[in-house]
Amino acid sequence: MTSTDIAPMEEGPSKGLDQISLLSSDERLKGRPRLCSDCGFCDSSLKLLMSQTCTFVRNQTRGIEQRLHGRTRQAGEEGRFGIYRAMYAARMARPNPNAQWTGMVTALGARLLEQDKVDAVITTAAAPGTRFKAQPILAHTPQEVLATAGNKPCLSPALSLIDAVRDQGIKRLAVVGTGCQVHQLRAAEAELGLERLYVIGIPCSDNVSYTDLEYFLTQVSKSPETVVHHEFMQDFSLWMRHEDGHVERLNYIDFPMDKLHGIFPSSCLSCFDYANTLSDITIGYMGAPLGWQWVMVRTSTGEELFEMLRPELEIGELTESGDRNRGMPRYMERLSHPPGQKRPPMPIRKLVAMLQRTRGPKGLEFARAVIEMKLLRNLNYVRSKFPKFESRVVPDHVYETLAPYAELYEQTFGRPLARTATEPSSEG
Ligand SMILES: Cc1cc2nc3c(=O)[nH]c(=O)nc-3n(C[C@H](O)[C@H](O)[C@H](O)COP(=O)(O)OP(=O)(O)OC[C@H]3O[C@@H](n4cnc5c(N)ncnc54)[C@H](O)[C@@H]3O)c2cc1C
Repeated sequence: MTSTDIAPMEEGPSKGLDQISLLSSDERLKGRPRLCSDCGFCDSSLKLLMSQTCTFVRNQTRGIEQRLHGRTRQAGEEGRFGIYRAMYAARMARPNPNAQWTGMVTALGARLLEQDKVDAVITTAAAPGTRFKAQPILAHTPQEVLATAGNKPCLSPALSLIDAVRDQGIKRLAVVGTGCQVHQLRAAEAELGLERLYVIGIPCSDNVSYTDLEYFLTQVSKSPETVVHHEFMQDFSLWMRHEDGHVERLNYIDFPMDKLHGIFPSSCLSCFDYANTLSDITIGYMGAPLGWQWVMVRTSTGEELFEMLRPELEIGELTESGDRNRGMPRYMERLSHPPGQKRPPMPIRKLVAMLQRTRGPKGLEFARAVIEMKLLRNLNYVRSKFPKFESRVVPDHVYETLAPYAELYEQTFGRPLARTATEPSSEG
């Protein structure tokens, strides 16, 4: 692929900066709920189930957890990370150079096929002629899965393949998906007619449509058309690797938020499952030291998956330092201002970036900080843009996890953190 394959649009995001993106006025999404992450389920013949299965219509985390684990999550660490049996820092001893990190996810999909544990794997490839446009595929061979290594950092309608699974009589399936896809899949699991399902989850947050991804890159990179890999790193900066191998870095504090405001879909800003808590195994990076992957084994199926890969893994150490609580007052203060403000002056940004890097939370504490901030930001987003949805889409664990900040919340936003008595949770 050459740089000319990508024609970044510099004129602006797919919608006006103050409009909510990906509402059902978008042609392909007509008739869908007002919060839609285009998970693909509504492209399938099961779409009539959507009102009972979509996380953005009614969050069913509690019921699904009860079914998967025989219990619901406890407040505290499980409130942030979900229920897990084991947590690791791990990486492939022989990393796949095409992978997003070391290639644990695609290696798992490939091994499942090699060992005849599944008939097919739903995974996300790049659309022909593009580097990053998500195109979900139903892979039947290990090679097909391995060819999908690397993030396509935009919304992927992976569940549109449900009909292909049913048409091909597939009974043993693995799915690689984000939290919204996994919620949908779990809620509809009984209707899929599968004998075996392996769910490999990746953490996810603030995803964007493909056109908005192109726009985003024009705003953050000096050479958007040559970016071949990018990741939001644990050192408070975005790393962008280019075709010639050099890595461009941009501190989070240097993001031009006034130009980015509005590109994130309303669904992603109403998501409360960063850690993909309903998967069998979650494989990300955020809670692990730089260079390692962060793994949460959640179910007995997840244990089977991890053990399958263990001979190929190096196991590292999960560490943590810093205190996430220190940053919360400033974060709330920033959230209380209207979105899309101009950046602070350069010397202040430099100082903040240095302080974040040297004194900010690290390791698992970094993961806790990020998850709590996203829970808080998204709760406020739902409250301001979709207040009637709060009782349906905000699960109870959000309030429980944020409870230590309740007083600060009330002082900053002038309303209680807790759900009002007139709006009981639909989680039951
Ligand atoms: C949009 C997005 C946001 C993410 N945000 C975070 C985060 O905040 N914190 C964190 O710890 N991890 C996050 N991840 C996960 C992380 O970047 C890696 O994908 C993960 O750690 C697996 O790395 P790997 O080397 O094992 O994957 P690889 O072996 O390279 O495989 C990547 C897998 O991801 C799948 N995939 C690629 N793009 C998509 C997509 N758009 N939708 C669904 N599946 C896709 C592919 O099908 C493939 O199976 C995010 C991933 C995506 C796609």
